[in-house]
Parts: sequence; C-alpha cells; structure tokens
Amino acid sequence: MNIIETTGLSKSYGKVHALNNLSLTIRQGEVFALLGPNGSGKTTTLGIILGVIFQNNGTYRWFEEENHYSQRRKIGAVLEMPNFYPYLSGTNNLKIASDIKGIDYSDIPRVLRIVGLEDRGKHRFRTYSYGMKQRLAIASALLGNPSVLILDEPTNGLDPQGIAEIRELILRIAAEGITIVLASHILDEVQKVCSHVAVLNKGNLIFKGSVKEMTHPGYTLEMASSDMTLLRKTILEIPEVSGIESESEHWLVSFSSEPDAGIINSMLHNKGILLNHLSRRTKSLESHFLDLLKKQ
Ligand code: ATP
Repeated sequence: MNIIETTGLSKSYGKVHALNNLSLTIRQGEVFALLGPNGSGKTTTLGIILGVIFQNNGTYRWFEEENHYSQRRKIGAVLEMPNFYPYLSGTNNLKIASDIKGIDYSDIPRVLRIVGLEDRGKHRFRTYSYGMKQRLAIASALLGNPSVLILDEPTNGLDPQGIAEIRELILRIAAEGITIVLASHILDEVQKVCSHVAVLNKGNLIFKGSVKEMTHPGYTLEMASSDMTLLRKTILEIPEVSGIESESEHWLVSFSSEPDAGIINSMLHNKGILLNHLSRRTKSLESHFLDLLKKQ
C-alpha cells in the first residue's frame, strides 16, 4: 500500500523556490529518507504533507484515500522538540499529549517501553538528557499507535551514544511494521537506517530509489588486457554490458545485473583474451551522493 504519494509539489517563500515539482511515493514498511544538505527543502516537504505548510502547486494523498483530517490519527510526527513541561514527569507530559490527541492514558506505558524510558517515566522532564528528551518526543508521537512516523533530523544535536540509541530505536520501530519517513543531511545515517531515499538539492529531486540501488548504482568491473581495443570489442558483445568507458589504465564496464567476474574472465579467456586486471567497483552512497550534487 502507498503510505503517501506526492505529485508535483512546489513551494516558494517569496523569491526562494524551496521545492520544485516533487513527485514521490512512499510505501508501507519503508524507512524512507529525505536526504539533502541544509536548505534543500526537506522540512518544507514534511511540513506540506503534514498540512502545516501550504504548497503553491501539486497534490499529496495519504493511504491512497481522499485527504481527511481523521487520517492524522494514523500519523505520528516529530518536527521539532515538543513543548514539554520541564517540572512535570515524562509520564505526566505524555498524559497532556494524550489529552490533546484524545487518546486513553493506557497507551503511555507501551510507548515509554518502546523508547526505553519505562524506568524514567516518573522523573521530571528537566532531569532528562537531550537524548532522553528526543526519545520522549518520539514516545509522544507514537501515542495512539500510528502507522507512520515522521521525524525531522532525529539525531541533530545528539552525542554519539544518543545518535546510536535513536538509530537503534528507529530500526526497532520499523521492525514493528511502522513506516518511517525521516529527513536527514547525514549520508551515513541514511545508509545505516533507511531502506529508501529521495535526494533533494535546492528543492529539486535528484535521485529516488532504494538505498541499495544508490550504494550499487549499476554493477561495474574494471578490466584491462594487453590488447585494449580487442578487449573493448569483445566486451561489447556481452548482452549484460550496459556501458563502457576508459579510465586510466583500464576499461570501466557497467552491467545491467550483477556480473559474475569468474564467468566473464573464463569467457574472455575462451576468446583468447588474457586479462591483466579485473576488479569489482562499487560506489559508496557518499561518492554517488556527491556525484549527484556535482551534476546539479
Ligand atoms: P534544514 O536542514 O536547514 O532545515 P531543509 O532541507 O529542511 O534544510 P527547508 O527548511 O525546507 O530545507 O528550506 C528550503 C528553503 O526554503 C531554504 O532556502 C530556506 O531558507 C527557505 N525557507 C524555509 N522556510 C522559510 C520561510 N518560512 N520563509 C522564507 N524562506 C524559508
């Protein structure tokens, strides 16, 4: 099922084009990242689909249905740190959040358990570390058992331990079947936590797909032999080859599916070609991301 589908969303703030014609689909069970540098339009996108920012153009649709206020019950979101009361306990803050959402208090122990604050629920909010505050915010968003959780830069400002805890928590929540949409400018985070990604740059969508696809953007082998012309001609006869380019001392050969280097080597050998270089190339998400930004 599609959790959300956007079609041609655009937003300008005066002369600033924050978002241009964004179309994407997020499916149930995905951990979906909006990845991009500061100012690329991530928060604007989340704000639009949550109905707190109004788009200039385009549409969006939740749960394959006509938009309706009642859908909000199925969406939990942490866009910024909620206004928790410092002198009230975590539990009492969640009681206020439950009242606002019209949800029974009986859900509070469940959400505290999920975020690992079951032993700290009675303690005052002001005694919490920043990481615990962030986890309480996520607990609050989970009240009422939403089917999708939206997080804007969930690890911003946290120390390494806090970052690890939030990442682990996101994976745990996703494992319960909750679809997650998060904004991040950190490649490593997306690689560790997310299944799918949309890369934004200056409000433009420059890549969308699975994180795996981005890490292995095509399958590439480096190949060289003493007769590079004959090698090129022979390689181009392989049906799975989708491209070839020259790179320093070797050919960079792209395949449409994962190549078996052994089979290719033996096939070339049968045609009288001895390779003096054969190496698999995988591009990291990082170099691919940087390439995408450069192309812009
Ligand atoms: P960040 O990680 O810095 O929050 P972002 O990717 O979430 O970045 P947005 O906050 O969506 O990006 O901002 C996109 C662009 O729109 C930026 O150029 C930003 O300065 C501009 N912008 C955002 N909100 C407003 C506003 N209320 N008024 C004017 N310009 C805005």
